Amino acid sequence: MSRVPSLTRPGGWPEDSPPRSVLFNIIPYGSCGADREDLCNFLSRLAAEHRVSRGSLTRRIIGPAAFELFKVHPDQLTSEIGCTNFAAGVCGVTAQAARWAQTLNHLTQREDLELCTLLPFKNFVSPFKLQALSRRCCPACYDDDISSGRTMYDRLLWRVGAVNACPVHGLQLMRLPKQPVGVNRPEQVTDNREVTVQRFLESRPTRIIASKDETDDARLVANLIDDSASFLTMTYSLSSQRAFLEHVIDTFFEGKSAHLAMQLGVDKSQLHGWTHGRVRMSLPRLVSVARCCCCEIADILLGEQVAKHFHPLPEGQRSRIVSQVRRGAETPLTEIRKRLRKLIETKEVSDASAASNALNISRKFLRKHFREENALLVKRGEETRRASRRETTEAFARAYLVEHQALVDDGIYPTRRLVLARVDVEVHGRLKHRKVQLAKREAHLATGTPIALHGDTPILRPRVDKK
Ligand SMILES: [Zn+2]
Repeated sequence: MSRVPSLTRPGGWPEDSPPRSVLFNIIPYGSCGADREDLCNFLSRLAAEHRVSRGSLTRRIIGPAAFELFKVHPDQLTSEIGCTNFAAGVCGVTAQAARWAQTLNHLTQREDLELCTLLPFKNFVSPFKLQALSRRCCPACYDDDISSGRTMYDRLLWRVGAVNACPVHGLQLMRLPKQPVGVNRPEQVTDNREVTVQRFLESRPTRIIASKDETDDARLVANLIDDSASFLTMTYSLSSQRAFLEHVIDTFFEGKSAHLAMQLGVDKSQLHGWTHGRVRMSLPRLVSVARCCCCEIADILLGEQVAKHFHPLPEGQRSRIVSQVRRGAETPLTEIRKRLRKLIETKEVSDASAASNALNISRKFLRKHFREENALLVKRGEETRRASRRETTEAFARAYLVEHQALVDDGIYPTRRLVLARVDVEVHGRLKHRKVQLAKREAHLATGTPIALHGDTPILRPRVDKK
């Protein structure tokens, strides 16, 4: 285990010296809500400034500091970096985000790193549909970074699910492809995130102009991020959201909440939950209400009675946030059972999810009313997934062997890193490292190449065919 460092002084400084930042006190990029840097990007930049990888920096400094502050295992933060959803976790509203932001605040002697996450909204906005599921970007923002001579960075705004456009350039956000190499290698100084962006820009993606509504929505959220500093010090009041909605209902709908519910495309009961302060509104809903009432989202959260106009949402946008409404349960049970048995017999469906989709019923409904069939489908799903995982792993091992052999034939020692850079088959699921390790061992066995130990460079012998 690494030695626990001081949180206020770099290693080697006398104990009685005034507090200094342990890590460089770099300033997060961005000057407003539209271009503020997210915490995941900040961490990458911080590591690059120290000329080490994110993994090394976390293992040696950040992890032990988090142990001192939160009593979490010093290796926990290092293991979090390797997870695929690390970026979402560290920029979100969870305890994980709070731990990272506060630890980095201590080490860099900053106070504002929570603002690089969505933590300020934690008590004000429902976490439902708050974050986007994938990494997205505006290519024109990256162009601005290049022309300004700074490194390309990810904006916090792109992490918000309700945002689909860049308010600065009026372009639709684009999904970045997955990380290039199948395994995450936290020990690398330039992490895969940067490589992904470069490859994405090289592919010259088509830029799509966003609609006015999309840009307006993005601007509303950007303004909310701008206001987020004040949210950190405030507590949520149940009556604020209620005061705002009651004002809108009284002013524009003669006190009839059902009419507002219809305009927004929500159930009366849902609006009732909001107006009685029991349920916090989700960000997509806050955005639509703010757009209809021509006000800022902060006005709704703070209960400001500022709405002067009400513009109904266009017909197409009055949909539910959860787009799938399942109506299959309205069919008689005997009829559903008959169709379900047929689906199972003909092997048309591979698992319980596929069956509930085909019958347009929820998983819960399937589990409750058709227990035996559900159990059978769950078992079948597990078998299918296991088989598919096995197949991908085997395909990966075959591809590994081919590239390993190619390097050996060229007289180059096939290190794992060199081989992986050439393999274009992804290895999925848990235990990625084990799968790569296995493929490597098998390739060495099959080609008779000795494995290098303790930094020795083994002598490569040309392969002799024994036949
Ligand atoms: Zn942009």
